[in-house]
Amino acid sequence: MSLKNAYLCKVYEGLAQRNAHEPEFLQAVREVFESLEPVVEARPEIEKNGIMERIAEPERIVNFRVSWVDDNGKVQVNRGWRVQFNSAIGPYKGGLRLHPSVNQSIIKFLGFEQIFKNSLTGLPMGGGKGGSDFDPKGKSDNEIMKFCQSFMTELSKHIGADTDVPAGDIGTGAREIGYMFGQYKRLRNEFTGVLTGKGLSYGGSLARTEATGYGVCYYMNEMLKDKGTSFAGKTVVISGSGNVAIYANQKATQLGGKVIAMSDSNGYIVDENGIDYKVMQEIKEVKRDRIKTYVNYVPTAKYVEGCRGIWGVKCDIALPCATQNELNGEEAKQLVANGCIAVAEGANMPCTPEAVEAFQSAGIAFGPAKAANAGGVATSGLEMSQNSQRLSWTFEEVDAKLHQIMVNIYAACKDASERYGMSGNLVAGANIAGFEKVCDAMIWQGVAY
Ligand code: NDP
Repeated sequence: MSLKNAYLCKVYEGLAQRNAHEPEFLQAVREVFESLEPVVEARPEIEKNGIMERIAEPERIVNFRVSWVDDNGKVQVNRGWRVQFNSAIGPYKGGLRLHPSVNQSIIKFLGFEQIFKNSLTGLPMGGGKGGSDFDPKGKSDNEIMKFCQSFMTELSKHIGADTDVPAGDIGTGAREIGYMFGQYKRLRNEFTGVLTGKGLSYGGSLARTEATGYGVCYYMNEMLKDKGTSFAGKTVVISGSGNVAIYANQKATQLGGKVIAMSDSNGYIVDENGIDYKVMQEIKEVKRDRIKTYVNYVPTAKYVEGCRGIWGVKCDIALPCATQNELNGEEAKQLVANGCIAVAEGANMPCTPEAVEAFQSAGIAFGPAKAANAGGVATSGLEMSQNSQRLSWTFEEVDAKLHQIMVNIYAACKDASERYGMSGNLVAGANIAGFEKVCDAMIWQGVAY
């Protein structure tokens, strides 16, 4: 698909020139702009108010040095970022990614996507994202703590419970959030809901750990219902074996599916009897080990070196839950040829534009990340509500709210795609439904943010 609207072309060209070294960011913006063409044409006030120029430019980017001392007494230096992208509908909200691949382009793409995702949840949250090129792999607990404390020493100047509320993402789980929260409290002498994904003993929400993975399956369930089917008896392939993937496995299994393959960045395992999420939890969350060790626990499983081969495993449902651009056009065609009927993105932008095109042109139900994986941030929003009220809801209460939010998100995406004559195109539906609320708020609030 190419951009045709003159206003959108002009804004995109300017962005492409100014951000030529940020391919992931441009990829994310282009996809949204393409979907919004009919909206921009139907609503001249969007151009009049310069909405597209403003929405694609972060309100603020903070880029900082993170220095810390390793176990050998050597000084290490990493780069940290927080991108505060858009606060039109609420305080900035979005995770912190710790991974050596992190750079400004990746944080900006994630922050941009977050604006629309957060809007889709129906909760009052703006878009933001942050992280560092720090690699948590192979670091001792002490080194992780030192890094997190140093990172928060700078970050604490820019965030707050009513300003910007970061959460976890790749490489940032309950342990890292704990160290960061401790440092924030130490520095500011205040106990507030400044981070989400906290431990249960100090303000965390039940079901937050499970939320993104469960949410992907709730969204997929709605997609399947519309096709007159369900998870029951379906084979499921899930890439990754981190937070999102593990709980997607649990929920897909509970809904009657059979998860037959999962991966990490080294390789994948296949077990036609179904992969046990509890064993995966033990390996990844407790032992922090590699996926290949799964075969030591479950001898019927087979390990294959190289993570990308997972898309060659024949399945009914595919849930890419690892990382961006992990599934390309050729792999998508292979899934289609093998009879896959539905795909939902658990990770952020895991499918390349060619892959999305391959799924859509084959008529396969395709659920985009900003809708399908919004359950995580939605439950973070519920954690913020509980913190403000000084209350803790039960697992069942949070899960029921999460379920309803995912059902509503699916309905909003479907409705928006139908209103603009693109029935069945959930990518366009998600972009439009997420955009409309933010756009209206920006117009109401005037030009300066
Ligand atoms: P984790 O760090 O918990 O897990 C990431 C997993 O993906 C690990 O198993 C990692 O393996 C694996 N992985 C990384 N690269 C590849 C690859 N190329 N092929 C196969 N596996 C790979 O992260 P999360 O589960 O939290 O996040 C996963 C994705 O979901 C990210 O895109 C994130 O932005 C998105 N997301 C997460 C949310 C959350 O609540 N956690 C909310 C919304 C989106 P290894 O150990 O080898 O690195």
